[in-house]
Amino acid sequence: MKLIKYPDPILSTKCAEVVNGDEKTSEILNEMSQKLYEWSGAGLAAPQVGILKRMVAIDIRETPSQLYKLINPQIVWKSEKMIESNEGCLSLPILRVEILRHESVVVEYLDDNFVKRRVTANGFLSCCLQHELDHLDGILYIDRLSKLKKSRAIKKFEKLQMEEQGEK
Ligand SMILES: [Zn+2]
Repeated sequence: MKLIKYPDPILSTKCAEVVNGDEKTSEILNEMSQKLYEWSGAGLAAPQVGILKRMVAIDIRETPSQLYKLINPQIVWKSEKMIESNEGCLSLPILRVEILRHESVVVEYLDDNFVKRRVTANGFLSCCLQHELDHLDGILYIDRLSKLKKSRAIKKFEKLQMEEQGEK
């Protein structure tokens, strides 16, 4: 598995549902979880490793830590209340941008044994779930910005990338 970075068109592609019983699913989720820790992310969606299937691994590093492996996740409820979320994305290294997210969400998903589960999330976990689930629809967090803010964010990202390459 290798990390797919912006502006690869894979990241703007809508992912397909995972078919119940697909053998490779738990293998893929295990490898995604390993990569999540290796790359020090809070969440990783399958398209970020080039797999166009609806799968996500999340661990927001709380104590005790909890690893979520989500198959075909869906937001079934979201709060009206929004919060500012300072976000980054493994596929857009270094860049951080303030985004508005729902403070709370309820997400239904299948775990890696295809058992139906539901998580109620607030704050950072809620924002992280919204960020990762967007990836499955080909939406990046910068796509949630106004046109002007998005073009500023992309310019900043390109500048950061150039600076980093200059330092190497
Ligand atoms: Zn991301």
